[in-house]
Amino acid sequence: MSNVYSFRGGVHFTQKSPTLKLHTERFKDQIKLCVPLFIPGEPDMTACVKAGDTVLRGQEIGIPSSDGCSVHSPVSGTVEGIVNIRLPSDKSREIPAIEIFSDGKMENIPLLQPFDKKLSETTPEEIADVLKAASVVNLNYDGTAVYRKILAYTGKIRRLIINCSETEPFHTNTLRLMFERPADIIGGIKILMRAFAITGADIIMADSEEEADNSLLKACGKSKYFKIRIFESRYPLSDPALLTKAMIGYEVGPGTCPEDFGCTVLSAETCAAVYHAFAFGLPLVERRITVSGESVTHPKNLLVPFGISYTALIDKCDGIRNGPCALIDGNPLTGICISDYSAPVTASTSAVLLVPELLCRADASRVSACINCGRCSAVCPRRLLPSYIAAAVNAGNMKKAVKLGAEFCSECGLCSYVCPAHSGPMNRILQAKNSAVSEKEADR
Ligand code: SF4
Ligand code: SF4
Repeated sequence: MSNVYSFRGGVHFTQKSPTLKLHTERFKDQIKLCVPLFIPGEPDMTACVKAGDTVLRGQEIGIPSSDGCSVHSPVSGTVEGIVNIRLPSDKSREIPAIEIFSDGKMENIPLLQPFDKKLSETTPEEIADVLKAASVVNLNYDGTAVYRKILAYTGKIRRLIINCSETEPFHTNTLRLMFERPADIIGGIKILMRAFAITGADIIMADSEEEADNSLLKACGKSKYFKIRIFESRYPLSDPALLTKAMIGYEVGPGTCPEDFGCTVLSAETCAAVYHAFAFGLPLVERRITVSGESVTHPKNLLVPFGISYTALIDKCDGIRNGPCALIDGNPLTGICISDYSAPVTASTSAVLLVPELLCRADASRVSACINCGRCSAVCPRRLLPSYIAAAVNAGNMKKAVKLGAEFCSECGLCSYVCPAHSGPMNRILQAKNSAVSEKEADR
């Protein structure tokens, strides 16, 4: 492979992933789900089913209070009740959720039909309508509805960047998708090219993923519309700002986004969901998840319905081994530590990691003052000076911290990961980011 792209900073994680060669198992046991009626950026939702109702897979169970996406049942089964829950990602507010007992049959509603027009005759508005009806969201990124991106940016986007890399420790869900369903990814990219009215796409792969890359390359065929971009495998390659800079040379700075520069970045998973909406009429109700880490008995790649609990995932992997452990939703650097294992998995969960508790426990005795070693600056992919920002926050000078670019931090966690003083510069930077957001909200 020639012309390998790179970016400044980042870290290559070398640990071998035990799930890389494991085929994805579909989870279809009889089990209780708790499906949150929530999609980021969409209006509040209310239930349109009640306890005792029978539901089919793909049926609407939550409808928006104004124009927007619905939530669909991920399984066939019986509604047990409607409850209010708090998601681990946002404990500040309660949202409604539907409890469904799955009958294990995964019976689809009969209305699910493939889109019946040739892609070449389909308009961007029609594509947006299909994706809205199927509630397809931007998986692995902000989780917002894809149809809104299409309506906002068609005609303004010149580069469609599809991230097919997997550089996060333990994660293999994207690689398994590339192995198992490469044609779905390619089908989704073609639909998105049509939606954004552009004739090409940049497909991002990491150089350490040769087998998965080859599988996807085969599905691309000899199409001149796809430009394959091989990058050095370093976390956080998925960062949209890094990919935009590498593709068009523009720095996506504070207060801007790739779309301001005519680029948009979507994941391989999103492309596959787009394809499923068109080819089968299937709403987005499930996703691939890697369950891994030293403390899980049999790590696996699973295709799971939204609303499944962390407990059910752990049971599916034959439980916990090696004593007390911590559960992380996401990656070890930035994931959320989950204390309530009965909480539901949502579209934003790409991996669930079980690691020995000791690795996660905060140990105050290891923390010391910054020794100005410069490692955090060297590793920061967004070219920030984390120790300077952290020092400004420690001095109570939020204005200076913001001036130094705190708001541009991608929250990749690398500065804290490499810090020999364990001083956690990212937490300080987040303080500055949050204070800047609150200030802006107060000014509105
Ligand atoms: S968390 Fe923010 S400041 Fe730290 S390395 Fe990542 S982008 Fe840079
Ligand atoms: S890595 Fe830690 S000790 Fe080194 S300069 Fe950054 S904050 Fe200071």
